[in-house]
Amino acid sequence: MRFLRPRSWEQALQDRAENPGALPVAGGTDVMVEVNFDRSRPAALLDLTAVPELAEWSQSGSRSGGTLRIGAGVPYGRLVAELGDRLPGLALAARTVGSPQIRNRGTLGGNLGSASPAGDALPPLLAGGAEVELASVRGSRAVPVEQFCTGPKRTVLAPDELIAAVRVAPATGPEQFSKIGTRNAIVIAVCAFAVALRPEQRQVRTGLGAAGPTPLRAPAAEELLAAELDWDGAGPLSDGLARRFGGLVAEAANPIDDVRGTADYRRHALGVLARRTLTWVWDEHRGRRPECA
Ligand SMILES: Cc1cc2nc3c(=O)[nH]c(=O)nc-3n(C[C@H](O)[C@H](O)[C@H](O)COP(=O)(O)OP(=O)(O)OC[C@H]3O[C@@H](n4cnc5c(N)ncnc54)[C@H](O)[C@@H]3O)c2cc1C
Repeated sequence: MRFLRPRSWEQALQDRAENPGALPVAGGTDVMVEVNFDRSRPAALLDLTAVPELAEWSQSGSRSGGTLRIGAGVPYGRLVAELGDRLPGLALAARTVGSPQIRNRGTLGGNLGSASPAGDALPPLLAGGAEVELASVRGSRAVPVEQFCTGPKRTVLAPDELIAAVRVAPATGPEQFSKIGTRNAIVIAVCAFAVALRPEQRQVRTGLGAAGPTPLRAPAAEELLAAELDWDGAGPLSDGLARRFGGLVAEAANPIDDVRGTADYRRHALGVLARRTLTWVWDEHRGRRPECA
């Protein structure tokens, strides 16, 4: 097997263009499992770990406004330690990924590249309205994260493209992530749910994991809350509204039966996660308002 190890982003794009059969590898926590179990035998590996640009993140604009650009090679551990205050939903999801070893190696770009419907970074990126920056020697383009995955393990990446970064605005309100697994740690999600509250825009955004062939949003559930939450008074959340929200999230799901859970269980569990996480973000929002302190 050939092994390519570019030392710059420019060289990585060149190598990718000249070797379309080479499989990119970042942390290797998905790729090496496939290779070790002989499920994948790529002609060449394109190791991206020596490309400094992929391991950087930056923020344009003000700390609370602006846009974060997170290099595809930033691992989960750094998302938690360095960006937890700006992207709390993504950090909560990152904390649930694998074990400390996996969180040190596994990257945001690798989670996107694997395009698993159960990838834990994807629901908070959907809820956060993120874009994926793709690049090749031909140039670069930005794709909304909801359009990036086209099916299980399938993406819009062209054969000569690499994932450069994720662009996302820092949270402007409370965010939550919750995941069901068959045990507490080192577990693939049976299903997962992320929610982001944007009080200034009176908006709620959602992200559902392991709920269909690709990660999904629940637009009807988002519209319900935009219209019916008590944005001005910030009164307590009614049980009825939380239940209707959970019901619409469950309806948006299109899950399958598999070894980890049945479609019926997943739909039910997503409704429960949605209700619970909504309660948490709304309580946090109320607590943040000076008159409720
Ligand atoms: C024990 C264990 C536990 C795990 N637990 C979880 C979990 O709880 N939640 C979860 O979501 N995942 C989990 N995973 C899966 C894995 O850790 C994640 O998907 C991780 O984000 C993959 O990142 P990586 O950098 O290791 O990717 P790699 O394995 O290096 O690559 C994954 C895919 O992305 C592609 N790729 C990587 N970087 C780029 C790039 N810049 N441009 C284009 N394509 C690229 C690769 O070609 C490959 O197809 C687990 C894996 C293991 C082994």
